[in-house]
Amino acid sequence: MRRNRNAKIVATLGPASTSRETIEALFKAGADVFRLNFSHGTHEDHQRRLEIIRSIEQDAGRPIGVLLDLQGPKLRIGTFVDGPIKLEKGAMFRLDLDAKTPGDINRVALPHPEIFAALKEQTNLLLDDGRVQLRVERCGPDFAQTSVVVGGVLSERKGVNVPDVVLPLSAMTDKDRRDLEFGLTLGIDWLALSFVQRVEDILEVRKIVGDRIGIVAKLEKPAAIGSLDAIVEEADAVMVARGDLGVEMPAEQVPAIQKRIVRACRKAGKPVIVATQMLESMVTAPVPTRAEASDVATAIYDGADAVMLSAESASGKYPVEAVRMMDLIITQTEADPYYREVITASHTAPRANTADAIGYAMRHVTGLLNATATVAYTSSGYSALRMARERPCAPIIGMTPRQATARRLALAWGVHPVLCDEVIDVLEVSELACHTVREEGFGRTGQTVVISAGVPFGTPGTTNLLRIAQIQ
Ligand code: PGA
Ligand code: MN
Repeated sequence: MRRNRNAKIVATLGPASTSRETIEALFKAGADVFRLNFSHGTHEDHQRRLEIIRSIEQDAGRPIGVLLDLQGPKLRIGTFVDGPIKLEKGAMFRLDLDAKTPGDINRVALPHPEIFAALKEQTNLLLDDGRVQLRVERCGPDFAQTSVVVGGVLSERKGVNVPDVVLPLSAMTDKDRRDLEFGLTLGIDWLALSFVQRVEDILEVRKIVGDRIGIVAKLEKPAAIGSLDAIVEEADAVMVARGDLGVEMPAEQVPAIQKRIVRACRKAGKPVIVATQMLESMVTAPVPTRAEASDVATAIYDGADAVMLSAESASGKYPVEAVRMMDLIITQTEADPYYREVITASHTAPRANTADAIGYAMRHVTGLLNATATVAYTSSGYSALRMARERPCAPIIGMTPRQATARRLALAWGVHPVLCDEVIDVLEVSELACHTVREEGFGRTGQTVVISAGVPFGTPGTTNLLRIAQIQ
């Protein structure tokens, strides 16, 4: 089974996508990577979904990526004694550490001592995705007296964003550490780190996971945008997390930032996911708005590796339709002759090293000989990613003896991962490559295949060979 597109689809699983039947339908409709969102659900919920994914993977004979998304240091207020409150503009409202006492119209708990340590007078606090805005008038180590700048209804456990300050928080809470440990025992492929603020946040997690799984830095804080290049360098992939990003920064700045992040990732050759509200209206309707269809297409024209569904597939009424719609939009967009033009025009020069030189040559050879497919024989997946960075005209078969690599490559632009046996010589790799291209439906006898590999085999990080072969 092959997909007829380059960009990938990440579908979040949730209450609307729990049964094997639905998850399988999502996969068949086009989901390449499933996201388990640990902001919601129990470990048992996630484990059950993961077992279903692995069984679908086995039946389909296709690697499927699984992305565990950690909640991160999402700040939330406490509860209210008498249901939601209504805050009027100009009123005073106090936040404190007293989590035991339910809140009222005058105060509510914000059980995060680190926040009070970082607050200053005039700091803005955004509650419930920015629907309510407070400004700090006075503060101490255990409270903040605020005034209401934008009023509205506030219900319990709503999120709090503090865009103006770099918070003295690690990107991982105790809950995240437990969730990660659990995820590692389950066997996940990607770990998404929420509310990354600085490059150290990635390094901290790297110490725990090493290269066992890929780290996705979710960019949703202004501070992270400030050190974009350093974060892209250390992370294995990046998510443009427009939900929280659009709360922490004015909505009108999000499009330019999105493009900047995608550009930085394409330059570095790191997979980039554009996320949140892509087909939002499909949570309740079977068709998207024209603006949403255009939003997905824009990400594709920019050359993003993947687009993501959140509530649409996790809790919406039309999860399968949403994936199908995304698949259609991507396919149509990539078929537009102008697509190739913009992808080529936005391409940046590779680095001056062997792996990039091979990728560069591969792209030009593929175009010159009108090759039907390219094959990267890869152990870590690195050379397949360097090929993807080149955005070649022909599909990239990521042929790997490592299952973890095959699954991880499910996120990368244009890469069709295939699990294969370990090979030991050049002739063997070229025969296997041609065979795989034909078997997987990417070419037929007489067509040209461009293959990259590293010699001696079995030594990671040695992409140094480019071979041109004909399918027999
Ligand atoms: P979330 O992240 O769905 O976990 O909040 C994505 C975003 O903020 O856009
Ligand atoms: Mn978020």
